[in-house]
Amino acid sequence: MKLWQSAMIGLARSKSITGLMQGNRLMRGLAKRFVGGDNSSAAVRRSSELSAQATTSLYYLGEYVESPAAIEENVAHLVAAIEQLGQSNLDVHISIDPTQIGYAHSDALGEANALRLGKLIAAQPASGRRRLAMLDMEDFSVVQKTLDLRARMAQAGYPTGITIQAYLHRSAEDLRGLIKDAAVAIRLVKGAFAESRDHAWTSRTDINREFLSGAAVLLSAEAKTHGVYPIFATHDDEMIWAIIELAQQNQRTQEEYEFEMLFGVREPLQHRLIAEGYRLRDYLPFGTDWWPYTVRRIGENPANARFVLNALRGNRSHTPRK
Ligand SMILES: Cc1cc2nc3c(=O)[nH]c(=O)nc-3n(C[C@H](O)[C@H](O)[C@H](O)COP(=O)(O)OP(=O)(O)OC[C@H]3O[C@@H](n4cnc5c(N)ncnc54)[C@H](O)[C@@H]3O)c2cc1C
Repeated sequence: MKLWQSAMIGLARSKSITGLMQGNRLMRGLAKRFVGGDNSSAAVRRSSELSAQATTSLYYLGEYVESPAAIEENVAHLVAAIEQLGQSNLDVHISIDPTQIGYAHSDALGEANALRLGKLIAAQPASGRRRLAMLDMEDFSVVQKTLDLRARMAQAGYPTGITIQAYLHRSAEDLRGLIKDAAVAIRLVKGAFAESRDHAWTSRTDINREFLSGAAVLLSAEAKTHGVYPIFATHDDEMIWAIIELAQQNQRTQEEYEFEMLFGVREPLQHRLIAEGYRLRDYLPFGTDWWPYTVRRIGENPANARFVLNALRGNRSHTPRK
């Protein structure tokens, strides 16, 4: 890992720096580059501002919580976001980490909360928009639980998507199973956790190969017949142009799949895809605990150091996205 990135991860993990930064007015300006706001109302407002160009998936910044009170608070924020999106004309599209809604406490609590959220999403007016509980995929220990949860939610009739990590050895088979089971939406990512070689490919070449092979499956005639909507969540140009070529070879129109990127990351690439007519969704986090997420994004690209310097100088000229 590069020195800059390790330094930023160190900053993300430090509780005292987190407290300091989250209370700092200038740093809050910086957070606006990557985060939708402190609460669901701000995030829905930001989604609405973005909606002329991109759709969004809202994510509440609260991972791996074990105490029932903290879990309930996470769920309450997601409930508020779903209800507010439901009252707007935006997609009711929420990204959920299973461990933020109960799986870090007990499977029963996690499943009960997921069903609660799925039911609420399904109850929002359809009005020609996408309603989806998108399950994020966390570390290997919860992969099977997350797949089981998706099946349970689908069985209950709730619109539920799932994220598949291309780096896992098991993912090719999981993808086949999900397509047979007509999963409504599958989001393909490379995978973000430090998994062992027993479970995962670890070299960039192998991961990219697996990602494109998963993309081919998602764009296949079989996936289309089963009504699976493919979502490609990557900032990697090489993957994106290869997917576009694959889609064209498979006679898929631009409306039959979408790209998804983190809000604020690789904006020129996002703008180019939008200008060329591709569907783009922004993963838009919200919540008061924004420092660790923001500083990790900054760590992914040293060029982003200028945003920190601008924030410290009080210069907000780079803050608005569009
Ligand atoms: C919407 C979305 C949802 C995700 N959900 C999950 C999930 O549920 N589970 C999971 O394990 N992983 C998830 N991920 C993370 C994913 O697995 C990868 O770790 C992450 O996207 C980086 O891989 P990449 O495909 O973008 O390619 P990379 O090869 O990592 O990056 C491609 C290019 O983008 C550039 N880039 C990346 N980040 C930045 C940045 N902040 N600023 C500027 N340039 C940047 C890189 O420098 C590189 O040039 C998700 C990613 C996205 C976009």
